[in-house]
Amino acid sequence: MSVRTAEELPSPEPLPGRPARLRLADGAPGPEGTAFPPFVDHHVHLQMVDPDAAPRAGIAGVVDLGAELTAISALAGREPLPRVVFAGQFLTAPGGYPSDRWWLRPGSLRELPAPLPAHERRALPDPIETAVAEQAAFGARLVKVMLNADAGPVFDRETLDAVIAAARAHGLLVAAHAEGEGMARLAIEAGADALVHAPFTERLDDELLTRAAAAGQCWIATFDIHARAGEASALETAIDNTARFRAAGGRVLYGTDLGNGELPDGVNAGELAAMLAAGLGAAELVAALADPWPLADAADWGGDALATFVPGPPPGDADGLPGWLAGARVVPIENLEFG
Ligand SMILES: [Zn+2]
Repeated sequence: MSVRTAEELPSPEPLPGRPARLRLADGAPGPEGTAFPPFVDHHVHLQMVDPDAAPRAGIAGVVDLGAELTAISALAGREPLPRVVFAGQFLTAPGGYPSDRWWLRPGSLRELPAPLPAHERRALPDPIETAVAEQAAFGARLVKVMLNADAGPVFDRETLDAVIAAARAHGLLVAAHAEGEGMARLAIEAGADALVHAPFTERLDDELLTRAAAAGQCWIATFDIHARAGEASALETAIDNTARFRAAGGRVLYGTDLGNGELPDGVNAGELAAMLAAGLGAAELVAALADPWPLADAADWGGDALATFVPGPPPGDADGLPGWLAGARVVPIENLEFG
């Protein structure tokens, strides 16, 4: 495997944060630390976790990637934290993943048939256009397509193209779950904006990785789910693909798939340690946490009023970074004093 261990990494470059002191509720000076733009977990399932836990543990915003529309739009409308951006339902082929999974919440799956031939479409929107329009009507900012060839039927290229075209027509991004042989290639060639898991089924060739990076595709890491499930080869494959994707200029996002099995709330030190193993440097680690995707910038996540604050001095080496960042908490900027 062509990836470096954390011990082989150079010591971290300066972090893109600002030294700050937290003011406590009674006005007394609190701990010194570092203030960052709001941290975002780019892959969660808020219906399956305690939605109030994230901000207590350093995550100011979440991207929900699969939920029932009424429930998730209600969670997104709550005040104030975490800020929620969501994809809405899992869009999948009839009988496709995750239609048979025990954890699937009622109403969170949308099975889409192949598009109608043009001569049968007439003036009516087809089921694909209707489904995507419904996600948009509930406030989704992206759609989630499920391409798991190991667990049932998947969209063919024509159907995937129709879903992506419908999303584009509503100004929505497209995030793909790619699992099974050829599925990452299908998602990359069709132009999906993001892969919701760093590809873990098979080694992608450099040409394909480079194409994904050049197209601006984002990969959401989610390494720790493999580690916790004891899936060493999936973890190794995901880290190896990500190391080469990153080297090709690819954009890697922090995301945990919170709600999938037993994961810690908030900033996950195990996830960050695996990202270091994939070759990300200290500043890149913070950039992956603070990346505003799928929104335009940090202000869209409340970054003009909120910060993620990490108490204590930054560690002297990369090994100490995951544990230090896991101590993060979300605070109003007005509670911080900058030196
Ligand atoms: Zn997920």
